[in-house]
Amino acid sequence: MAVFGIFGTKTANVASSTYYGLYALQHRGQASTGIVVNDDGVFHSYKDSGLTNEVFTPRILEDLGLGQMALGNVRYGTSGTRDRVNAEPMLVNHVKGRLAISHDGALVNYAELRRELELEGAIFHTANDVEVFAYMITKARLSEPSTEDAVCKAMERLKGGYSMLIMSPQKLIAARDENGLHPLCYGIRDDGEYVVSSETCALNTVGATFVREVEPGEVVVFSKEGVKSIRTHCGKKPERLCVFEYLYTARPDSVINGCSVHLARKRAGAFLAKAHPVEADVVIGAPDSGIDAAIGYAEESGIPYGLGLIKNKYIGRTFIDPGQSVREDKVKIKLNPVVETVKGKRVVLVDDSIVRGTTMVRVVKLLRDAGATEIHVRSSAPEFLNPCYYGTDIGSKEELVACKYTPADMAKMFGAESVGFLPIEDVVKLGESGTCKGYCKACFDGNYPTEVPADDNDNKYDHKISENK
Ligand code: AMP
Repeated sequence: MAVFGIFGTKTANVASSTYYGLYALQHRGQASTGIVVNDDGVFHSYKDSGLTNEVFTPRILEDLGLGQMALGNVRYGTSGTRDRVNAEPMLVNHVKGRLAISHDGALVNYAELRRELELEGAIFHTANDVEVFAYMITKARLSEPSTEDAVCKAMERLKGGYSMLIMSPQKLIAARDENGLHPLCYGIRDDGEYVVSSETCALNTVGATFVREVEPGEVVVFSKEGVKSIRTHCGKKPERLCVFEYLYTARPDSVINGCSVHLARKRAGAFLAKAHPVEADVVIGAPDSGIDAAIGYAEESGIPYGLGLIKNKYIGRTFIDPGQSVREDKVKIKLNPVVETVKGKRVVLVDDSIVRGTTMVRVVKLLRDAGATEIHVRSSAPEFLNPCYYGTDIGSKEELVACKYTPADMAKMFGAESVGFLPIEDVVKLGESGTCKGYCKACFDGNYPTEVPADDNDNKYDHKISENK
């Protein structure tokens, strides 16, 4: 999931800039997308399931009109929440005015807060956490003097990993959870417009210069008075950036906490080469997110890097689609080997991660059919052993291949000569040229930075919501 917002004081084509920003963040979510334009306090919005460039036609963007501010979102639906009804930003009219809200992440106390609100009479229309954010903020606004104070008050109860953007008629407000699990930054354009984004790559796309990250627990308010920082929640918890951002989620040309994602991935590849060396003729990467680590592996090991697999550019990240059968079909149409690179060769195949193992079985077979004599599988992420409660869909323990099999068993299952994972102690070193003070690596070591839902099923309200797409 990703958020993107623009704050300016002059009327401009903010819808178009938001469209390009979301387009740059598309890798973070492909289930649905939406834009809200704020023209002197009047909100115009459009959202739907699908990719940004499918949903927003020139006509729809034109209809959104001009404005001084805009808020956008691309959403990656975790299981059961991919319906259009869950698309963001969410628009709410409340007793003190109007808000648009969009977020990246997930609440661990969603079920608890939702139940509490329902018992007070609230009626929910979606299975999306953002509706709980909206209720908590508008409820707090009844007693707080401003929207930003209401956001701070709501944050006392919001537990989990989230980066959120809230647009009121006059302000754009950015907030990040106390551990700073997901990235959020802002920049400025030459014309003085502020741009807030989940990743720096979208700042570059719209011509904004990076200013800084929103800090863990910080609330940043953009208004006619300038930029205000509220730090009531800062420093309450240790920083815990999701390390999977470096390994998979973010785009390699983004910089998170002062560290290039590309460099972090190359570092992962180098650590992998040290931990799991092998005699081979060529190192190849599983496109796209395995490429940077493959280059790092090749550089460290001295084995040449080769272009071994080509990905159909018009297909999304396979994992995002629901259901095992759909995922398998997509893997089949996604990749094709470059026979000249792998035929008769001992191949090191680097991917960013092995989750259920579905991709690896298929890719190893592709390479074997293309004539690779040996295939050594290397994952630049450690073994996935635990579910994520902060918005990354990595499934339950029953689905995680590393929970059931040793690397040696996996090698047999994939039809490979060997399998090796990044050692867990190396993941904290990936962002070492940056400023991050600590990482969440709970999916690998089970060390969650927050409380976690007692029963995962309690946290899901999917069965209550359905809508024809
Ligand atoms: P699997 O086939 O289940 O082992 O999934 C591994 C593949 O999915 C890798 O090639 C990753 O690039 C990709 N992947 C890993 N984690 C995620 C995620 N949370 N969402 C989408 N794709 C993912």
